Formats: sequence, C-alpha cells, structure tokens
Amino acid sequence: MQFDQAGAKALMEITSRPELVFVRGQGSWLEDHNGKRYLDMVQGWAVNALGHCPPNVVEAISKQAATLMNPSPAFYNAPMMELAKLITQNSCFDRVFFANSGGEANEGAIKLARKWGQKHRKGAFKIITFDHSFHGRTLATMSASGKKGWDTIFAPQVDGFPKAQLNDLDSVRALIDEQTVAVMLEPIQGEGGVIPAQAQFMQGLRALCDEKGVLLIVDEVQSGMGRTGSLFAYQHYGIEPDIMTLGKGIGAGVPLSALCAKESVSCFEHGDQGGTYNGNPVVTAAGVEVMRTLTAPGFMETVNERSQQLSTGLMAISDKWGMKGERGQGLLRALILDRDDGPAIVAAASSRNPEGMLLNSPRPNLLRFMPALNISKEDLDTCLAMLDELIAQVRA
Ligand SMILES: *Cc1c(COP(=O)(O)O)cnc(C)c1O
Repeated sequence: MQFDQAGAKALMEITSRPELVFVRGQGSWLEDHNGKRYLDMVQGWAVNALGHCPPNVVEAISKQAATLMNPSPAFYNAPMMELAKLITQNSCFDRVFFANSGGEANEGAIKLARKWGQKHRKGAFKIITFDHSFHGRTLATMSASGKKGWDTIFAPQVDGFPKAQLNDLDSVRALIDEQTVAVMLEPIQGEGGVIPAQAQFMQGLRALCDEKGVLLIVDEVQSGMGRTGSLFAYQHYGIEPDIMTLGKGIGAGVPLSALCAKESVSCFEHGDQGGTYNGNPVVTAAGVEVMRTLTAPGFMETVNERSQQLSTGLMAISDKWGMKGERGQGLLRALILDRDDGPAIVAAASSRNPEGMLLNSPRPNLLRFMPALNISKEDLDTCLAMLDELIAQVRA
C-alpha cells in the first residue's frame, strides 16, 4: 500500500511520526501498511490494557453501538451505571464521574477539590503536586504537571500548583499552608520515568493530609486498572485516598476516563460538572468488559507472573550489558541504561526485520515497558530475546 503523503500533510504537525500506517492489531501484535508485524510493548502508552482488539471488548462495543450510542449525559444508561458499580465495589470510592481522557478526569479532580475547599476549608484552593509529574495537557493539568518547560509554554499558567519532591515528605510539609486543599500525585510517575512513590512516603503523606485536613488525590490514569499488579496502585500501600482518577486502560483503547471520590468529598452541585460525551454507553460498555476481565479469578495472578518474568528478564539483560538495573511495578517497568542510547534502541526495534518491536524511551537512558496485561509468556520471551539482539546491534 502507498503511503498517503497528502493525508499526512493535512494533519497538524504535533510530533515527528515515522512514515508508517498501522492497519491492524491483534493482542500484542500490530501490522503496518506494508504487512510488517510489530510486537507492541507500548500499547498506546498503556492504553490497550487487554491488547489490540480484545474480542470481548469488540463484541461489547459492537452490540452497544447497534443498540444505543448516545441517549445524552443528562439521562442514565445501563453500561454507565454498571461500570460505576464495578468501580465502587472494587475500590474504596463511593462515587464516579465519567469523562473522555485522563487530562479531563484530572481537571475534574482539581475542580472537585477546589469545590470542597470552598465548602469546607474557607476557599483553600492550592494543590501540591510534584516535580517530574504528568497530569495531562489541558491548561490546568499542564500547570499541575512538573514537566520541565511547561511553566512557560502557554503562559500564564493556572495558579495554585506548588511543586514538592516525590518521596520527600518534608518538601510537602513545607508547602502546606492555609490555602492548601489537596496533594495530588501519581503512585508511580509514568512519563517521569517509572519512579514509584515509596510505601513509607505514601503512608506518611496520608497521615500528613489527615493532620492538616487536606485531600489526597491519586492520579492513577497510568498506574490504575491492573497495570501495577493490583487493580489500583494505591492498594499496594494500605492507604485510602480521597480522590482517584482513571484513564488509559479503563477503556481498552476507546476514550474513557473516570473521576472517583469518597462520598464525603463528592460535593459537586448541579451544573458544576458535565460534558457532552461523559458516561457514553459505547465507551462505558468497553469499561465494563475491562473491569470484568481484570476482576475475574486468576487474572491478576497471571499479570503478576508476567511481571516477574519481565522483571527477571530485564535484570538479566542489565547484568549482561552492564546496565543499571530495572524498576517499576507490575507491567509498568523500566530498564535503566548505562548510557543515552534509549532512542537508538527504540529506532532499531521499529526498523528490525522481518518483525519489528515498539518500545518507548521516556528519557534517553531509559526504556519503558507497558505491554498488554494479558501478554502471553511466549510473546514476552520474544520481546526479551529481541531486546538483547537489538542492544547488541546498537552497541556493535
Ligand atoms: C497519560 C496520563 C494523563 C493524561 O491522560 P490523557 O488521556 O492523555 O489526557 C494523566 N495522568 C497520567 C499519570 C498519565 O499517564
């Protein structure tokens, strides 16, 4: 198939894309317009929790699309209610608001915390966030993010997001004042380079928030939905946040996200929050299938077996090549390179023949792995073998 140059030219230039058109996907494999196959260890940035085109999700979406696509968010629909029940039954939260992207769910979390601050904390509005964090690409979530340079592009920022240091409780304590309403963090910084919040820090943060009367918000857009080996990452820490956001994996590839909160914090009044597509039955039907799959007996055990396999395999590669180890939780892991050849390995993986591999390098000295949660043992072995071969090639 010819590459559609005119089509490429008609698209706004927002990133450098290779001249590849993906036409088909199944499980952990993608196929491009030339018929070449790729083992996908990125899965749309941890979005396709069940791999490409999972049959149960395809069926649920198709059925729902043929039955009812959009009654309007002002009315109830069955998949929306079912998914809200599944989330609340399997978490510490009582109420759910559905949205279309992680950034939008986080905007909702920020609004909810500010509303709560107006009602209960004399208008406190500041939300402490962290250096190297990533919360989305809307103006408020860019301001909340701790990405280098994001404080100046699109200036002025949305006010009220002082930055602390992850795993440094004193840096949080030092920022808390009368105007602080919440602390928001990713249990594992994903875009920041797969950096987990330590248990002691997370537990200390919960205690500090209780002591100061501020809310704890976890952004589980990347770490939630089974990604770290438990349904939600906060569950590893033995704590209960006040607010949690979900995105990415919850829709298995369709645009769906969620804002979850405890009853006591769910203080929106009519008109405060909404959106044309939220709770749309086609996408929430996908979410229902994802939740049912993840909570089925044995599913998370298998995720943890694959996680162990990936961790052990990456460690062996690190030892063999004199790298700096691996880190992460569940199937969100990173190989820490001893030099900045991450981008070269990513490029070599994509152009490898006859089969390629899709990898991600969020920092030049890091490779990030976000495979489908149901990746097979064989595919994961293939990934590790290819990786070793690619490193040899790049470093020859
Ligand atoms: C990807 C991501 C977001 C943004 O989600 P979008 O769907 O791209 O808006 C927010 N927070 C975290 C932790 C993410 O990984």
